[in-house]
Amino acid sequence: MAKNKGVCSFCGRQMNALFQGEGAFICDECIETGHKMVQEMYAQQARAKKTDDLSLANLPKPTDIKAFLDQYVIGQDEAKRFLSVAVYNHYKRLLQPMDDGVEIEKSNIIMVGSTGTGKTLLARTIAKMLKVPFTIVDATVLTEAGYVGEDVESMLVRLLQEADYDVAKTEKGIIFVDEIDKIARKSDNPSITRDVSGEGVQQALLKLLEGSVVNVPPKGGRKHPEVEYIKIDTQNILFICGGAFDGIERKIAQRLNTQVVGFDAAMETQHIDKKNILKYIAPQDLKAFGLIPEIVGRLPILTYLEPLDRDALRNILVQPKNAITKQYQKLLKMDGVELVFEDEALDYIVDKAIEFKLGARGLRSLTETIMMDIMYEVPSRKDEEKRFVVTRQLAEEKLAKADMMRLRNAV
Ligand code: ADP
Repeated sequence: MAKNKGVCSFCGRQMNALFQGEGAFICDECIETGHKMVQEMYAQQARAKKTDDLSLANLPKPTDIKAFLDQYVIGQDEAKRFLSVAVYNHYKRLLQPMDDGVEIEKSNIIMVGSTGTGKTLLARTIAKMLKVPFTIVDATVLTEAGYVGEDVESMLVRLLQEADYDVAKTEKGIIFVDEIDKIARKSDNPSITRDVSGEGVQQALLKLLEGSVVNVPPKGGRKHPEVEYIKIDTQNILFICGGAFDGIERKIAQRLNTQVVGFDAAMETQHIDKKNILKYIAPQDLKAFGLIPEIVGRLPILTYLEPLDRDALRNILVQPKNAITKQYQKLLKMDGVELVFEDEALDYIVDKAIEFKLGARGLRSLTETIMMDIMYEVPSRKDEEKRFVVTRQLAEEKLAKADMMRLRNAV
């Protein structure tokens, strides 16, 4: 029962909205606070359960993991298979019996693929089904200790936070290092002067990849003499790295050419798929690009992402579980309107994404541009029309009004 004025038995303040219990009153604000605390407790319990459940019997098999990825990510079969196996082996490593003298070593992964082909999407998607803590860090913000930016070790703090400050769980987690190519050495000369964003960061990252015990400040930020550190052993943490490695095709082609000359030239050149040079990527190309050999050695699984062709882009628009078009359909459905995209309209969006070199990322901004007026007007339409069709003509009109340069800069 509610009463209008009185003192809350919990916070002791004079409040306007009070609810009566057995010999006590509680105000609306205390109820809200309590509600949040209960939610947080449930969430923590759910997260704890996730890692405690680790046993071979209930682990998703690589084919299950790939099938899950297939629901959200179009194509990229090779990268999906590599990722699925890596994650499954990571679990097995954590569960391995230690009585036979054979120790399964960890196999960190590196994925190379042009920007916008789905590297981060793969990482985010796999995170949804992982049974260990997982975090994504962007290598572009990492700098050597003492410089402006984040220490490499800050990625452990993030993982620790994901694991609710449970060190044992943190030590079993997975870290996705995005844009690792951005910490490549800028020239082939080993650094003579200090290279804030390059080799020093790689050396610091190497320490984590190799496995070492690192002191991290619990709240993140810079190390400080008065703060008590948490010790984290990175021995069992799996690292998945991703990067676009712009221009690495040239290095691969150079290597292939020199190989071809000394080998059966005619045979080899015939087999080279020039449209997708990335699939020939080898560890030495990463070194040539500017990753230090020790890092390359610690990332033994190397895989690549395919460039997205017209069909892939078209599928991305409609197929994934949360495909862009499905999202707009859901938005309008909440206003009671059925949204339909004509095939020709979808083809047109794909054509524009290709014409303006916007890639998969551009599909969203193009669709958003087309949908803006519609989302503005349709919810307050008075008529009985409960269906809205996006035709090619409408898409053309909306995009003609838009500033394509702005669109291009936005992706
Ligand atoms: P990357 O990390 O390779 O630069 P992202 O994974 O961030 O690229 O992709 C950008 C966006 O493009 C994603 O959020 C998604 O909407 C779309 N996208 C890219 N590749 C795919 C794909 N293979 N399948 C489905 N959507 C994709």
